[in-house]
Amino acid sequence: MSRVTPTFDERPTIALVAHDHKKAELVDFVSRHRDVLRHFSLFATGTTGQRVIECCPDLAVRRLKSGPLGGDQQIGALIAEGRITALFFFVDPLSPHPHDVDVKALMRLSLVYDIPMALNRATAERLIKTFAEERRAAEVS
Ligand code: PGA
Repeated sequence: MSRVTPTFDERPTIALVAHDHKKAELVDFVSRHRDVLRHFSLFATGTTGQRVIECCPDLAVRRLKSGPLGGDQQIGALIAEGRITALFFFVDPLSPHPHDVDVKALMRLSLVYDIPMALNRATAERLIKTFAEERRAAEVS
């Protein structure tokens, strides 16, 4: 699928979302990998973004609306515009979510546009490792 060149930032862009019971885990993940993530422009849903900014004020995070208020759909729109390189969405599979249809729509668009999508910590750790390796390779070449 064709991608548009991001106009707002030259850096590739990662989207961050975490359900409430997974927010602490995502913040810990972001904090531990901030040296890699600082090379990306970051979008996050409202509350997730707030938590990440509090923890890592040095990272460039743009907050969208809260997930239940349309933030997931905003990220979906960015994906459809070709502006998102990867999605890190720490999903809580054990709680009901009023905006479940939005969550499904976001995952669907990630599949449609074939972007890397980490839905749990184990996958996120492997994906970020790939980005770190690509970064190192780019630096030596
Ligand atoms: P939030 O939204 O970051 O505003 O809590 C996340 C979600 O989709 O539940």
